[in-house]
Amino acid sequence: MEELIIIGGGLAGSEAAWQAAQMGIAVKLYEMRPQKSTGAHIGANLAELVCSNSLGSNLLDRAAGLLKEELRRLGSLLIWCADQTALPAGGALAVDRHAFSTLVTEKISNHPNIILIRQEVQSIPDGTVIIASGPLTSPALSSALQSITGTENLYFYDAIAPIVTADTINMNIAFYASRYGRGQQNEGDYINCPFEKEQYLEFVQALRTAQRIPLKEFEAEIRSGVTAGNKTFFEGCLPVEVLAERGEMALAFGPMRPIGLQNPHTGKRPYAIVQLRQDNVSATLYNLVGFQTNLTFPEQRRVFRMIPGLEQAEFVRYGQMHRNTFLASPVLLKPTLQLRKRENLFFAGQITGVEGYAGNIATGLVAGMNAARYIRGLPPLVLPPETMIGALCQYITQASIQNFQPMKANFGILPPLGLTPRDKGERVRLYAQRALENLERFRKESGMVLEGK
Ligand SMILES: Cc1cc2nc3c(=O)[nH]c(=O)nc-3n(C[C@H](O)[C@H](O)[C@H](O)COP(=O)(O)OP(=O)(O)OC[C@H]3O[C@@H](n4cnc5c(N)ncnc54)[C@H](O)[C@@H]3O)c2cc1C
Repeated sequence: MEELIIIGGGLAGSEAAWQAAQMGIAVKLYEMRPQKSTGAHIGANLAELVCSNSLGSNLLDRAAGLLKEELRRLGSLLIWCADQTALPAGGALAVDRHAFSTLVTEKISNHPNIILIRQEVQSIPDGTVIIASGPLTSPALSSALQSITGTENLYFYDAIAPIVTADTINMNIAFYASRYGRGQQNEGDYINCPFEKEQYLEFVQALRTAQRIPLKEFEAEIRSGVTAGNKTFFEGCLPVEVLAERGEMALAFGPMRPIGLQNPHTGKRPYAIVQLRQDNVSATLYNLVGFQTNLTFPEQRRVFRMIPGLEQAEFVRYGQMHRNTFLASPVLLKPTLQLRKRENLFFAGQITGVEGYAGNIATGLVAGMNAARYIRGLPPLVLPPETMIGALCQYITQASIQNFQPMKANFGILPPLGLTPRDKGERVRLYAQRALENLERFRKESGMVLEGK
C-alpha cells in the first residue's frame, strides 16, 4: 500500500501521523528541527508548545472545552498526552510543556508504522502528502507552496508572552486565586498582580511609549495595518502595547480584567490585574497570561517590573513577535482538508487558518484520518457541522475570502439551534449536547474504531 508523507512534526503533524498510523498506513513524518529552527521553537521535541502552556478551557460550556471533549472521543493522541501531563489551572487544560512534548515524541517515535525523519522538506513531494508545517513554515517550503496553490500566502504576526521565576514574585503584594474560585488548589491556580487605578494608568502610558523591536519592511506594513484597525492581525494574540494604544481601558477590559477576583490583602476587587499561570510541574516558572509583546528586552524588564508584585521579577523568557503563514483556505481547500485541485494533497494545523493549539490538533486528526482513507480507496469524511471540529473545517473552507482570518473554536461558528433559549448558559449547554450527539452518530456511521495509546 502507498505510504503517507507528512511535513511538520508540530501539533497537527504529530496528531495526523498517529491517526494514519493507527489505521495501518505507513507514515514518513518529516521534521526539520533540530537541524533547522523556526525562530520560535527552542527544542527538538515534536509538538513543542511555542507560547502559552495552556490548551484552553476544559469546561464543556466553553467552545475550547467542547472541542477537546470531541477530540478525546475521537481518540486524539495529543489530547491524551495533554491529559497525562496536565498541571493545575482552574478550568483550563494547562500542561508541563516539556513533559507533554516528550511524551508525544516517545509515542510517535515508538509507533511501528511511523518513520520520523529529521530533515527540512523544500519541495512538495508526489503521492499522498499532508502539509502541517505550521505558522513558521520554512521559506523554501513557503515558496514551493505559493507555486502549487497559485495563490499568495497571507502573512502576519503573532506574539509570545514572557516567563518569570516564581521565587522573584513578591507574594506580599500578589496573591493566588482563580476567577470565581474555580481552581483545583485551595488557594487558587493563578498568581494575580493587583493594580490600583493610578498604577494601571501609569502602566498603560509606559506601554504606549516603550521602545519596540523594529520590524522588517513588509512586516512593518502589516503592523501599521494592525494599528489602523486592519483585520489581518489575529485579534486574540495582539501585543499588549498595541492593545494599550487602542484605548486607556482596553487592557482593563481585556487580559487585565479583574472580574471574579478579590485581593485577600485588601478585601477589595483590584482595578485591574495581571494573571500569571504556572508554566512547569515544579511551579518555579510562571507566564504572564495574554502578555504577548514586541517591546525590546530591556524595555520589557523595565515596564513589566512596574506590575505590582513583579518589581524584582527575573525574566527567563522575554516576549517576541513572529511571522504567521496561512493559506487562503476558502478558495484552496475542501472541508476534508484536501487541496481542491490536487486531492492527494492535504493540509493541517495553523497553515489552514485554524487558530489555537486544540484547533490545530483537530485539523491534524481530520487530515490524518482522511489521508489514510484516501490511500485505502475510501471516501474522505466530513465531520457534522454541529460539532466544533466539523464547524472549524467548514468555516475555514467556506468563509468569505475578502475578510478571511484565522478562526478559533467558538460557538458562533455552529449552525443556530432551532429554538434559542434566552439564557446563555442553557444555550451553550444545548450546543454542546447537540455537538456530542452528532459526534456519536458520526462515529457509529463512519465505523471509527478507537484503539489504545
Ligand atoms: C509565536 C507563536 C505563538 C503562539 N502562541 C499560541 C498560544 O499561546 N496558544 C495557542 O493556542 N496558539 C498559539 N499559536 C498558534 C498555533 O496554535 C501554534 O503555532 C501551533 O503550534 C500550530 O500548530 P501546527 O502544528 O500548525 O504548527 P507547529 O506546531 O509550529 O508545527 C509545525 C512544524 O513543522 C516544522 N517545519 C516547518 N517547515 C518545515 C519544513 N519545510 N520541513 C520540515 N519541517 C518543517 C516546524 O519545525 C514545526 O515543528 C502561536 C503561534 C506562534 C507562531
